Amino acid sequence: MVKALITDPVDEYIINELSKHGVTVDYRPGINRDDLLKVVGDYEILVVRSRTKVTKEVIDAAGRLRVIARAGVGLDNIDVDYARLRGIEVINAPEGSTQSVAELTIGLMIAAARLVALQDRLVKGGEWPKGKYVGSELFGKVLGIIGFGRIGQRVAELARAIGMNIQAYDIVDMRDKALKLGVDFVDFETLIRSSDFITIHVSLTPSAKYMIGEREFQMMKDGVIIINTSRGEVIDTRALLKALNDGKVAAAALDVLEHEPPREPWEIELVKHPRVIITPHIGAETREAQRRIAEILVNKIVNYLMS
Ligand code: NAD
Repeated sequence: MVKALITDPVDEYIINELSKHGVTVDYRPGINRDDLLKVVGDYEILVVRSRTKVTKEVIDAAGRLRVIARAGVGLDNIDVDYARLRGIEVINAPEGSTQSVAELTIGLMIAAARLVALQDRLVKGGEWPKGKYVGSELFGKVLGIIGFGRIGQRVAELARAIGMNIQAYDIVDMRDKALKLGVDFVDFETLIRSSDFITIHVSLTPSAKYMIGEREFQMMKDGVIIINTSRGEVIDTRALLKALNDGKVAAAALDVLEHEPPREPWEIELVKHPRVIITPHIGAETREAQRRIAEILVNKIVNYLMS
């Protein structure tokens, strides 16, 4: 009998469908590390999202493991090379959350440009700050997309409908794709220097870590708006805080942080900053994305087990 352990909250479809295929499923979302290390040796399948860190130590404790399934995109919480070395298949569902993350990105852009969260907080605190802040439209502004993969491209399509002028940069040459979507494919520095809004959609590769730091903020236009729904490590948090305090960055909206939840003093200061909007890594947190991810994942797991 094949056994699966699920250690993060997932759509019930995964549990039901795996059970229908004869898999015994133990659903333990939120299991702590010590308990995971104790029990993981009993399972052939491990299903995680981004919370569970599937390190060498976990993989070494998982003697029977055949499949690690990531219900989502990013594999940066899994030691993929080590898992593959041990003959374990690593599966994910990269296309399942594209639309949800792209929609959140557009929502955050509008919210940042109009300081929606700040105005809401002030009203809830008893103020009526009408006329206190002047926002900006997205229409006609230059949007710079860093990382022109699935989500970056979908953001471009949605932002075009709003009337933004879009430029993109990617480490891979995406000129053809960009041309088809009416996007200018530019080099990194051009994007940094000439965008009114910058939104980040890179995968967390070594070259992407801290790719936006003090040097980049200095090059940016005054009053730039920064959106990050990719991975927190892409931005040097302290440099962002400084750029916000200097007035270089007008507002920032972040769905991801280097530490989730935030723990360093400068991260706490950043999340409390009046012109910063923080959402707790909810990019894929929609019914539709979770169901899509579940369907893709179950298909892949079942195909693998039957092959
Ligand atoms: P993708 O792999 O389709 O696209 C990522 C792109 O980034 C690729 O085109 C790659 O070439 C590019 N890239 C990598 N390193 C780069 C660098 N140093 N400079 C420029 N470009 C670089 O991935 P995707 O599905 O579009 O996802 C994008 C990001 O969104 C990932 O980091 C993913 O983990 C994250 N994500 C977040 C959530 C959330 O809940 N907020 C949900 C899903 C995905």
